[in-house]
Amino acid sequence: MRCTQCDGEDLEPGFIEDSGEHSKGYARWIQGSLERGLFGGAKRLGKTRWIIDAFRCVRCSHLELFVRPKD
Ligand SMILES: [Zn+2]
Repeated sequence: MRCTQCDGEDLEPGFIEDSGEHSKGYARWIQGSLERGLFGGAKRLGKTRWIIDAFRCVRCSHLELFVRPKD
């Protein structure tokens, strides 16, 4: 794997934190544009959540994001 910004080869694994209330501690990706409900929250019922893997380039700090289906 290479950094798409600087072509560096040293990428360290990590993830995007979500510290919101009732959060599991990590952010997830959901397919489709964001739609918001009556109270401003995202409509996400019944949608598949994907785990986000975020790799940080050690040279330039660019993040490379990949998702995988939640198991
Ligand atoms: Zn880089």
